[in-house]
Amino acid sequence: MIENGMTVNVKFEEPRVIGECAGCYGEIVEGETIVEFPDGLMIHYDRYCAMAFCLESGERKTVWK
Ligand SMILES: [Zn+2]
Repeated sequence: MIENGMTVNVKFEEPRVIGECAGCYGEIVEGETIVEFPDGLMIHYDRYCAMAFCLESGERKTVWK
């Protein structure tokens, strides 16, 4: 039986890092779902990352009518 040995190693291989999330600054790895912006920025497809990115990139202001 050759079942185990090889296949187990393949499964635990490190996923390839594609880039960095502009929201949580974590690694974006192959196979993950992301949101990509026209200027090349990437964030994880995740509410936390999206919110972090918005608050980080946008300007905070109070609007008056
Ligand atoms: Zn993220």
